[in-house]
Amino acid sequence: MRAFMLTVFVVYVVVSLTWSSFGAAGTTGTLYKVYADSLNVRSEPAKGAEVVGKLNSGDLVRVTKEAHGWMNVTNEHVTGWVAGYYLKKVSGAAVQTAAVTTASGGSKPSAAAAVSSRTSATVTANTLRVRSGPGLGYRVVTGVKKGDLLIVLESRDGWLKIRTGADEEGWVAADFVTLGSTSAGLAVTTASLTGGASSGSLRGKTIVVDPGHGGSDPGMIGTTYETVEKEINLSTSMYLAEELRARGAKVVMTRTSDNGKPSLAERAGLASASGASAFVSIHYNSSPKNTSGTLTFYYSEDKDEQLARAIETRLSKADTGIKSNGIAYGDYHVLRENAVPSALVELGFLTNERDEAQARTTSYQRKAAAAIADGLQDYWQ
Ligand SMILES: [Zn+2]
Repeated sequence: MRAFMLTVFVVYVVVSLTWSSFGAAGTTGTLYKVYADSLNVRSEPAKGAEVVGKLNSGDLVRVTKEAHGWMNVTNEHVTGWVAGYYLKKVSGAAVQTAAVTTASGGSKPSAAAAVSSRTSATVTANTLRVRSGPGLGYRVVTGVKKGDLLIVLESRDGWLKIRTGADEEGWVAADFVTLGSTSAGLAVTTASLTGGASSGSLRGKTIVVDPGHGGSDPGMIGTTYETVEKEINLSTSMYLAEELRARGAKVVMTRTSDNGKPSLAERAGLASASGASAFVSIHYNSSPKNTSGTLTFYYSEDKDEQLARAIETRLSKADTGIKSNGIAYGDYHVLRENAVPSALVELGFLTNERDEAQARTTSYQRKAAAAIADGLQDYWQ
């Protein structure tokens, strides 16, 4: 009986790996792994809800929906809600390997469909070669390092076409990256970029995008889900860079890795050194009170306020799920010592449970990035 149960379980895992890698619609969901022992599964997405089961470290579950940082999970024993922080998506590379070994015929959908385009990926190898094509035979065009965040453009035969933060394109072996940012439980959605503006409208502009904090400085740690600010600053900034490049702008990032930590003077200095037209710093906020919402800061009324207002106007109109608290004066080094029009955007409070749950999602970060790009575009029109 025990052997039989084990066989059933193994078959189940293989089948669910295959299903999720093919992106099958509807009830199959996305495969996640549990990273906590004795994790309570609850009847509703709320702390006080009835406990209907438990999960242990290493358990695989399928996630069908998310609500405020909670995830609806299913496995062979239980269905219910768990705090999303304790789950990590099974990496696309691992899923794809499983799919390749189980799908022998040519009639099934391509494993490439498993990786949606425009997701982010984090490099897990110490150094990783970026090649001109999807195979070891192609020449090396550049290199990336552990912790670097990449944008995934395409997937083919275990290789991913990526763009680096320095706007270099090429192919990397999928086994050496994990999909999604390094934030735990961050779901990668298949939504395409939301920018509605016509492309090319930022042609000729160079924009410095500054993901706040980095390296030994994590920034704020979220009070409910322990979201690390430096990580979501970086992923949000990468989405912003994508939005701006799609509109024809040249983008210079002050850092492209979680390990990087340029000084404040280096960040501000990059604007004039690169001949930039504008500078935008991305942060998430904290407060001892239970404050919620975004805030867009400027330093100079002459140089910066109009840019901050343009960004805030778009953030307040965008349907991101976090309200705008308007613009404010802020005596920040990266604004004060900056030669070009500059704004610092705080995209929600990691001390507020609702804001934090929202801020962790890829969909929020993308919507906010699109709104900021719209604001930059308005600024020059
Ligand atoms: Zn910050």
